[in-house]
Amino acid sequence: MMRIVLGGVRGTSPVSHSDFMRYGGATTSVLVEDGTGARLVIDGGTGLRTLQPRLAAAGENSPILMLFTHYHLDHLIGLPSFAPLFKADWHVTFAAPERENFTVEDALTRLMDKPFWPAAFRARQRFHVLPETPGKMPLRHGSLMIRWCPVHHRNGCHAYRIDEPGTGASAVFATDLEWRASDDAERGLLLSLCRDPNPADVLIMDGQYDARDAARFTGWGHSMWQDAVQVATSAGVGRLIVTHHAPESDDGILERREQELRRVMAQACLAYGGMEIEIGKKA
Ligand SMILES: [Zn+2]
Ligand SMILES: [Zn+2]
Repeated sequence: MMRIVLGGVRGTSPVSHSDFMRYGGATTSVLVEDGTGARLVIDGGTGLRTLQPRLAAAGENSPILMLFTHYHLDHLIGLPSFAPLFKADWHVTFAAPERENFTVEDALTRLMDKPFWPAAFRARQRFHVLPETPGKMPLRHGSLMIRWCPVHHRNGCHAYRIDEPGTGASAVFATDLEWRASDDAERGLLLSLCRDPNPADVLIMDGQYDARDAARFTGWGHSMWQDAVQVATSAGVGRLIVTHHAPESDDGILERREQELRRVMAQACLAYGGMEIEIGKKA
């Protein structure tokens, strides 16, 4: 069984206010656990803090894989205060494709250097530059198989698909992408990630905006929630979770959006901080 925990689901910047309690204000960070105890994290936004107790328990016996979709700050800013990275007995592998000639090591070294932060990671670290697409060589972590593709976003971004072959569980995480500005090749890559070799059980996708505001947000690098419905429907994915909510979208706006979303796709919802999803048969 694969378990996904959405530590943070906010885009652009974290927010904290009583009007944002239901969906949460922490930025993107996602934990995926397989049935054998292997853990991987996608992105290190402030939602890492929510995931910290589950990850800290892993310690030296269970190396963590941290994947990055891209290096915009809302996806990194939880790292400098993520306590396990300052423990010498902790093992972590950071992995991502190179983006605009920056490797994951370049990005994290810069983030953790003065004048931005005074303390260096003490955990045992490895850096792994992934190819632009995995070709026939998916990455493996525990019983999880990981594939990815580039998506349309300013400075580049990648979507990841995680499969657990033993249970048939599969999920695609596709944040920070502008579907309407994507060309045919970019659309084809994401659709094929979602539907090959079989339609994923769940798609978690950027739907920061509403199509009524499309003209205002053209070129901003994000999708409308209606685009996420289109991608899920086209790829035959039965369950959709829309994420990367704008910092301006308070609980009232998001509750109304979720009702509208459910009217067009019954198996769809908006992501909220701390949301847990279990997919695949129990081992
Ligand atoms: Zn973002
Ligand atoms: Zn971004």
